[in-house]
Amino acid sequence: MKRLFKENVGEHIPGYVMAFICMGIVAATTGASAWIMKDIINRIFVQKEESMVWIIAGAVMIIFLTKGLATYFQQVLLTRIGNSIIASLQRRIFDRILSQSLDFYQRHPMSDLATRMSHNAGAARAVIDLIITSIGRDVLSVIALTSVMVIQDPLMSVLVLVVMPVAVLFVTNLVKRVKKIARAELQFLTRITSTMNETATGVRIVKSFNMEERMRAIMNSAIADVQKRNNKMATIGAMTSPIMETLGGFAVALVICYGGWNVIQNGADPGGFFSFLTALLMAYEPAKRLARLNVQFHGGMVGVGQLYDVLDEPVSISEADDARVLEVKEGRVSLKDVTFAYSDVPALNSLSLDAAPSSVTALVGPSGAGKSTIFGLIERFYDPQQGTISIDGQDLKGVTFESLRRQVALVTQETFLFEGTIRENIAYGLPDASFDMIVEAAKNANADEFIQEMPDGYDSMVGAAGSLLSGGQRQRISIARAMLRDAPILLMDEPTSALDAQSEAKVQEALDRLMKGRTTIVIAHRLSTVRNADVIHVMDRGRVLQSGSHDELLRQGGLYAQLYELQFKDVPVKMAATAD
Ligand code: ATP
Repeated sequence: MKRLFKENVGEHIPGYVMAFICMGIVAATTGASAWIMKDIINRIFVQKEESMVWIIAGAVMIIFLTKGLATYFQQVLLTRIGNSIIASLQRRIFDRILSQSLDFYQRHPMSDLATRMSHNAGAARAVIDLIITSIGRDVLSVIALTSVMVIQDPLMSVLVLVVMPVAVLFVTNLVKRVKKIARAELQFLTRITSTMNETATGVRIVKSFNMEERMRAIMNSAIADVQKRNNKMATIGAMTSPIMETLGGFAVALVICYGGWNVIQNGADPGGFFSFLTALLMAYEPAKRLARLNVQFHGGMVGVGQLYDVLDEPVSISEADDARVLEVKEGRVSLKDVTFAYSDVPALNSLSLDAAPSSVTALVGPSGAGKSTIFGLIERFYDPQQGTISIDGQDLKGVTFESLRRQVALVTQETFLFEGTIRENIAYGLPDASFDMIVEAAKNANADEFIQEMPDGYDSMVGAAGSLLSGGQRQRISIARAMLRDAPILLMDEPTSALDAQSEAKVQEALDRLMKGRTTIVIAHRLSTVRNADVIHVMDRGRVLQSGSHDELLRQGGLYAQLYELQFKDVPVKMAATAD
């Protein structure tokens, strides 16, 4: 709570001061409207002073007009501050998420993050609002009204205040139950978002496998859980009402008995009594809200806790304080005795390999051998538990992320395009590239031809995740992106997806052009690639078992010969033909 206020309220102090002044005016006018009851009763109804009718009616008008205006300004000010708090929290969450490494994204799926971004940032604002408006509006109003009561009749005020501790005791009991229910909320909301997300992104599979019923069942159960939870929360919140109503009724009854007796028996003035009663009745609503405050506050604080969980989650891989800019002279990539495990799943076991400059190093091996893991380590998405990875003798742990990733281009099997135009998607490779450079890169990637044929050329939209383009076209755009980047080191997970022969030949041609003159490490799936590779490393279970050229390895026999029979020999014969 302290931290929430310290981090978010500080910069808005002037706004809050203004809002508090408005709230003070609201409280004072509320007190005044109860106070004036005394004159209404005594001077108009008892003493029947005609001139006072107009004066008091005018005063009442002014009091309520002032209250209305002050309420308006207070609401506008608080809403604006609240929106700005949400905006800055969302910026902070996103910044933090962006600086996290890949393991964070595996722990927090997209739906979890989306829920935290919208729901928990909202909870933080709600808690701040609750405290500020409660203190500002309700506490001030209760103080103003209690002052009226005490001035009008101190003894009767003491009688009324006796019921307070009973209310507090009751409400404390509810708080514990609220906390428990609020904690489950994030989980339920995340389930709704993730089901929605899976249905939308996997819509082809959902439809073609008739999975609608299944998705509906998952969604229905998530919705029902949220509904049940919201009902519970509302029931507990509302439980404050019966007890407060009863206590309020009891207090009013006490006042009527004592005040009535005082007026009838002791001839006390009825105006004072009515003023007291009005103040009491008016104090009732803000007092009820204050009683509920604790319940709502603790519900919101659970969301705030979850928000700080994400903001405080340590970044597992960060730059060294004295990180230097990576300087690539020739582009030699070396892994030395590298051991790496994903939490407790071992992936690389004391592995060493070198990728020489201006040459193609191919990685082959059965699924799960650790090939993609090597790429993740070279990009420093992860740090090895043992061993070192270096480029031209510079340990990756000592260089800046920005300089490392500028020198490395990654071409993955799954081409990912961002929503936007083709030109923008290529330009991600080099944000300040000129249009001519983009066209040049597209030409080299064999993409220019199909782009020119599109209705808007380079300004054609690619659709969400590139859905308006074919698989081969997407691949060529991503190759153009890597061309434009012109990084000395190229990591390539060779596309295996089935493309038609013509498209495949174009992709292959573009890749060959891309590889030229760079340190290329390729996870090879094609015969042409392994044949043309300068060195092939054959991997299994996180180790390099054999290294050499295609012909050498075939002669050696062993795993490579087996893989050749299974994986390379028959399948992409046509590729071999096009490349040779
Ligand atoms: P493939 O050819 O099927 O892509 P690969 O050789 O690239 O396989 P890796 O993806 O590097 O293999 O995986 C090596 C090992 O690490 C496997 O046992 C895999 O299950 C495990 N692994 C990979 N990624 C993760 C992850 N994010 N979390 C936990 N374990 C992982």
